[in-house]
Amino acid sequence: MARRGWIYESLGEKITLSQVFLILNNPFYYGEFEYPEQSGKWFKGAHQPLISKELFLQVQSSRLIPSKVKYGSKTFAFKGIFKCGSCGSEITVEEKFKLLKDGSLRRHVYYHCTRQVKYDCPEKYVNESDLSAKLLNYIQTNVASIKISEELQRRAARHFEIVIHHFATHQISTDRLHPLVEYAGFVLNKGSYTEQGELVQGIQSTFVIRGREITTT
Ligand SMILES: [Zn+2]
Repeated sequence: MARRGWIYESLGEKITLSQVFLILNNPFYYGEFEYPEQSGKWFKGAHQPLISKELFLQVQSSRLIPSKVKYGSKTFAFKGIFKCGSCGSEITVEEKFKLLKDGSLRRHVYYHCTRQVKYDCPEKYVNESDLSAKLLNYIQTNVASIKISEELQRRAARHFEIVIHHFATHQISTDRLHPLVEYAGFVLNKGSYTEQGELVQGIQSTFVIRGREITTT
Protein backbone atom coordinates (compact mmCIF):
# COMPACT_ATOMS: atom_id res chain seq x y z
CA MET A 1 0.00 0.00 0.00
CA ALA A 2 1.92 3.01 -1.29
CA ARG A 3 -0.12 5.73 0.35
CA ARG A 4 -0.44 4.14 3.74
CA GLY A 5 -3.64 4.77 5.57
CA TRP A 6 -5.18 6.96 2.94
CA ILE A 7 -7.08 4.71 0.57
CA TYR A 8 -9.13 1.92 2.00
CA GLU A 9 -10.33 -1.19 0.33
CA SER A 10 -13.59 -2.77 1.25
CA LEU A 11 -15.45 -5.39 -0.72
CA GLY A 12 -13.32 -4.47 -3.71
CA GLU A 13 -14.43 -0.88 -3.42
CA LYS A 14 -12.04 1.97 -2.77
CA ILE A 15 -13.20 4.69 -0.44
CA THR A 16 -11.18 7.81 0.21
CA LEU A 17 -11.52 9.86 3.34
CA SER A 18 -12.75 12.78 1.28
CA GLN A 19 -15.69 10.60 0.20
CA VAL A 20 -16.27 9.68 3.81
CA PHE A 21 -16.43 13.35 4.72
CA LEU A 22 -18.79 14.05 1.87
CA ILE A 23 -21.07 11.51 3.52
CA LEU A 24 -20.47 12.99 6.95
CA ASN A 25 -21.30 16.48 5.68
CA ASN A 26 -24.46 15.69 3.80
CA PRO A 27 -27.58 15.74 6.01
CA PHE A 28 -29.15 13.25 3.60
CA TYR A 29 -27.14 10.53 5.28
CA TYR A 30 -28.74 10.99 8.66
CA GLY A 31 -32.11 10.76 7.03
CA GLU A 32 -33.20 14.30 6.16
CA PHE A 33 -33.18 16.13 2.88
CA GLU A 34 -34.01 19.58 1.59
CA TYR A 35 -36.29 19.98 -1.40
CA PRO A 36 -36.03 22.07 -3.49
CA GLU A 37 -32.39 22.69 -2.60
CA GLN A 38 -31.73 25.91 -0.68
CA SER A 39 -35.46 26.26 -0.01
CA GLY A 40 -35.21 25.64 3.70
CA LYS A 41 -37.92 22.95 3.39
CA TRP A 42 -36.70 19.79 5.05
CA PHE A 43 -38.22 16.35 4.73
CA LYS A 44 -37.59 13.22 6.65
CA GLY A 45 -36.27 10.57 4.27
CA ALA A 46 -37.84 7.14 4.07
CA HIS A 47 -34.42 5.53 3.95
CA GLN A 48 -32.53 4.14 6.91
CA PRO A 49 -30.11 6.81 8.14
CA LEU A 50 -26.48 5.93 7.37
CA ILE A 51 -25.21 8.02 10.25
CA SER A 52 -26.91 9.49 13.29
CA LYS A 53 -27.87 13.15 13.50
CA GLU A 54 -25.61 13.40 16.56
CA LEU A 55 -22.61 12.24 14.54
CA PHE A 56 -23.48 14.65 11.76
CA LEU A 57 -23.65 17.59 14.16
CA GLN A 58 -20.48 16.44 15.90
CA VAL A 59 -18.63 16.47 12.58
CA GLN A 60 -20.01 19.90 11.69
CA SER A 61 -18.85 21.41 14.94
CA SER A 62 -15.44 19.73 14.83
CA ARG A 63 -14.38 21.23 11.56
CA LEU A 64 -14.14 24.53 9.79
CA ILE A 65 -14.52 24.70 6.06
CA PRO A 66 -12.06 27.27 4.72
CA SER A 67 -13.98 30.31 3.63
CA LYS A 68 -13.16 31.70 0.21
CA VAL A 69 -10.00 33.71 0.57
CA LYS A 70 -10.62 37.36 -0.21
CA TYR A 71 -8.48 39.42 -2.54
CA GLY A 72 -5.47 40.85 -0.71
CA SER A 73 -6.32 39.06 2.53
CA LYS A 74 -2.70 37.84 2.83
CA THR A 75 -3.81 34.69 4.59
CA PHE A 76 -1.43 31.76 4.33
CA ALA A 77 -1.25 28.30 5.86
CA PHE A 78 2.49 27.90 6.34
CA LYS A 79 3.80 31.40 6.94
CA GLY A 80 6.96 31.47 9.07
CA ILE A 81 7.17 27.67 9.29
CA PHE A 82 9.79 26.66 6.74
CA LYS A 83 13.48 27.44 6.41
CA CYS A 84 15.44 27.30 3.19
CA GLY A 85 17.48 24.09 3.05
CA SER A 86 19.91 25.55 0.55
CA CYS A 87 21.02 28.68 2.45
CA GLY A 88 19.27 28.77 5.83
CA SER A 89 17.17 31.89 5.18
CA GLU A 90 13.52 32.16 6.13
CA ILE A 91 10.97 31.01 3.60
CA THR A 92 8.41 33.68 2.85
CA VAL A 93 5.12 33.55 1.01
CA GLU A 94 3.30 35.73 -1.46
CA GLU A 95 0.11 35.61 -3.45
CA LYS A 96 -0.53 36.61 -7.02
CA PHE A 97 -3.88 37.00 -8.73
CA LYS A 98 -4.40 36.17 -12.34
CA LEU A 99 -7.33 37.65 -14.20
CA LEU A 100 -9.19 34.96 -16.09
CA LYS A 101 -11.09 35.47 -19.34
CA ASP A 102 -14.44 35.30 -17.57
CA GLY A 103 -13.40 38.22 -15.36
CA SER A 104 -12.81 36.19 -12.21
CA LEU A 105 -9.51 36.11 -10.34
CA ARG A 106 -7.46 33.01 -9.68
CA ARG A 107 -5.23 33.07 -6.63
CA HIS A 108 -1.73 31.58 -6.75
CA VAL A 109 0.32 31.23 -3.57
CA TYR A 110 4.10 30.78 -3.72
CA TYR A 111 6.60 29.99 -0.99
CA HIS A 112 10.17 31.07 -1.66
CA CYS A 113 13.54 31.78 -0.03
CA THR A 114 13.98 35.35 1.26
CA ARG A 115 17.70 35.16 0.31
CA GLN A 116 18.66 37.02 3.49
CA VAL A 117 21.62 34.68 4.00
CA LYS A 118 22.63 34.13 0.40
CA TYR A 119 21.58 36.73 -2.15
CA ASP A 120 21.87 34.30 -5.06
CA CYS A 121 20.30 31.25 -3.35
CA PRO A 122 19.22 28.86 -6.10
CA GLU A 123 16.17 27.50 -4.23
CA LYS A 124 13.08 27.82 -6.42
CA TYR A 125 9.57 28.70 -5.31
CA VAL A 126 7.04 26.01 -4.34
CA ASN A 127 3.34 26.58 -4.75
CA GLU A 128 1.03 26.02 -1.82
CA SER A 129 -0.83 22.98 -3.10
CA ASP A 130 2.46 21.19 -3.90
CA LEU A 131 3.78 22.06 -0.48
CA SER A 132 0.64 20.73 1.13
CA ALA A 133 0.85 17.43 -0.81
CA LYS A 134 4.54 17.07 0.08
CA LEU A 135 3.79 17.68 3.73
CA LEU A 136 1.20 14.94 3.77
CA ASN A 137 3.61 12.61 2.02
CA TYR A 138 6.30 13.45 4.58
CA ILE A 139 3.93 12.71 7.46
CA GLN A 140 2.78 9.41 5.90
CA THR A 141 6.36 8.29 5.34
CA ASN A 142 7.74 9.38 8.70
CA VAL A 143 4.76 8.88 11.00
CA ALA A 144 6.60 6.30 13.14
CA SER A 145 9.36 8.75 14.11
CA ILE A 146 7.48 12.07 14.18
CA LYS A 147 7.16 13.73 17.60
CA ILE A 148 4.02 15.79 18.07
CA SER A 149 2.64 18.14 20.71
CA GLU A 150 0.01 16.97 23.20
CA GLU A 151 -2.52 19.32 21.62
CA LEU A 152 -1.98 17.80 18.18
CA GLN A 153 -2.22 14.29 19.68
CA ARG A 154 -5.53 15.25 21.23
CA ARG A 155 -6.89 16.67 17.96
CA ALA A 156 -5.74 13.66 15.94
CA ALA A 157 -7.29 11.27 18.47
CA ARG A 158 -10.62 13.14 18.47
CA HIS A 159 -10.72 13.11 14.68
CA PHE A 160 -9.78 9.44 14.61
CA GLU A 161 -12.68 8.54 16.90
CA ILE A 162 -15.07 9.92 14.30
CA VAL A 163 -13.27 8.04 11.51
CA ILE A 164 -13.42 4.76 13.45
CA HIS A 165 -17.06 5.29 14.34
CA HIS A 166 -17.97 5.88 10.72
CA PHE A 167 -15.87 3.06 9.33
CA ALA A 168 -17.29 0.61 11.83
CA THR A 169 -20.74 1.39 10.44
CA HIS A 170 -19.50 0.15 7.07
CA GLN A 171 -17.51 -2.77 8.49
CA ILE A 172 -14.30 -1.25 7.13
CA SER A 173 -11.19 -2.16 9.03
CA THR A 174 -9.27 0.70 10.60
CA ASP A 175 -6.33 -1.51 11.68
CA ARG A 176 -3.93 -0.03 9.20
CA LEU A 177 -4.81 3.59 9.83
CA HIS A 178 -2.80 5.98 11.92
CA PRO A 179 -4.54 8.86 13.77
CA LEU A 180 -1.95 11.46 12.77
CA VAL A 181 -1.94 10.42 9.09
CA GLU A 182 -5.75 10.53 8.99
CA TYR A 183 -5.92 13.88 10.73
CA ALA A 184 -3.15 15.36 8.53
CA GLY A 185 -4.85 14.10 5.37
CA PHE A 186 -8.13 15.63 6.47
CA VAL A 187 -6.71 18.98 7.60
CA LEU A 188 -4.39 19.45 4.61
CA ASN A 189 -7.23 18.74 2.19
CA LYS A 190 -10.24 20.18 3.97
CA GLY A 191 -9.09 22.19 6.96
CA SER A 192 -8.80 25.93 7.42
CA TYR A 193 -5.48 27.73 7.05
CA THR A 194 -5.36 28.05 10.83
CA GLU A 195 -5.79 24.30 11.31
CA GLN A 196 -3.16 23.59 8.65
CA GLY A 197 -0.62 25.93 10.24
CA GLU A 198 -1.30 24.47 13.69
CA LEU A 199 -0.87 20.95 12.36
CA VAL A 200 2.64 21.71 11.12
CA GLN A 201 3.53 23.66 14.26
CA GLY A 202 2.41 20.70 16.35
CA ILE A 203 5.09 18.55 14.74
CA GLN A 204 8.22 19.02 16.78
CA SER A 205 10.74 19.38 13.97
CA THR A 206 12.07 22.26 11.89
CA PHE A 207 10.87 21.88 8.36
CA VAL A 208 13.12 22.90 5.50
CA ILE A 209 12.55 23.14 1.78
CA ARG A 210 15.44 21.98 -0.34
CA GLY A 211 15.25 21.29 -4.07
CA ARG A 212 11.47 21.84 -3.74
CA GLU A 213 11.28 18.87 -1.35
CA ILE A 214 10.46 18.87 2.35
CA THR A 215 12.85 17.54 4.96
CA THR A 216 13.42 18.22 8.65
CA THR A 217 16.51 19.14 10.60
ZN1 LIG B 1 17.81 30.05 0.28
